[in-house]
Amino acid sequence: MDHSADASGLLEASDVGSQKDRVVTEEEWLEKWEMGNIGFHKEEGHPLLQKYLDVLLNGRSGLRIFFPLCGKAVEMKWLADMGHSIVGVEISEQAVKEFFSEHSLPYCEEPVPEISGAKMFQSTSGNISLYCCSIYDLSSSIVGKFDGVWDRGALVAVNPCDRQRYASLMISLVEKNSSYLLVTVSYDPNKHKGPPFYVPESEIKSLFGNCCEIRCLEKVDDFSERHRQWGLDYFLEVLYL
Ligand code: SAH
Repeated sequence: MDHSADASGLLEASDVGSQKDRVVTEEEWLEKWEMGNIGFHKEEGHPLLQKYLDVLLNGRSGLRIFFPLCGKAVEMKWLADMGHSIVGVEISEQAVKEFFSEHSLPYCEEPVPEISGAKMFQSTSGNISLYCCSIYDLSSSIVGKFDGVWDRGALVAVNPCDRQRYASLMISLVEKNSSYLLVTVSYDPNKHKGPPFYVPESEIKSLFGNCCEIRCLEKVDDFSERHRQWGLDYFLEVLYL
């Protein structure tokens, strides 16, 4: 069955009512990491980043690239190995430590003076800095601005009530000529409570449309057994620039 119409907006704001009020707390995320309940993690990295790497880099080298809600995304290592400078933010210290240990990267950790309780973990080589705190604690005065963003499992993991705040923060963290690759998911939100949450295209336009041009680059079928267990019968990933 062709479900591409769903991803292009037939399921609109009225259909996401079932997810609107859902809140996943920081404690619940920490627990997911403790329990190893991290089906979102892609050991092999994300094929859409591989495919659209040139779009993200746009011929530029030595970029500062931001990974919001980074988990232990292996794409951070890929891009660092290409000479870019990576900054991520993640509330789970376990995730951050697993990232460094799984890639055998030595690191140091230090407090972040501007954010109470936060720590910054930095690879000894200096090109990967992961902030362990809530993304809402960051600002451009702390982390600077970025030339590129890889937003996968981030906007779709943000509680629906926080999306506006998240989008405004992200807009404040990017340089004028930056490239922002956003991966969202499309499925029937009446059948699964999320996360990941379904974010309709109309909402992406209302969140980011005033500040950037938005283009849908690709929709791919990502349906798997995990999604079948959630009670779904289709699951698409949608990539925007
Ligand atoms: N982007 C990663 C992880 C996606 S899952 C990937 O592609 O694999 C979402 C992640 O966001 C989880 O690891 C969770 O611990 C983290 N997270 C949730 N709320 C957060 C917040 N407010 N600030 C920082 N990290 C958060």
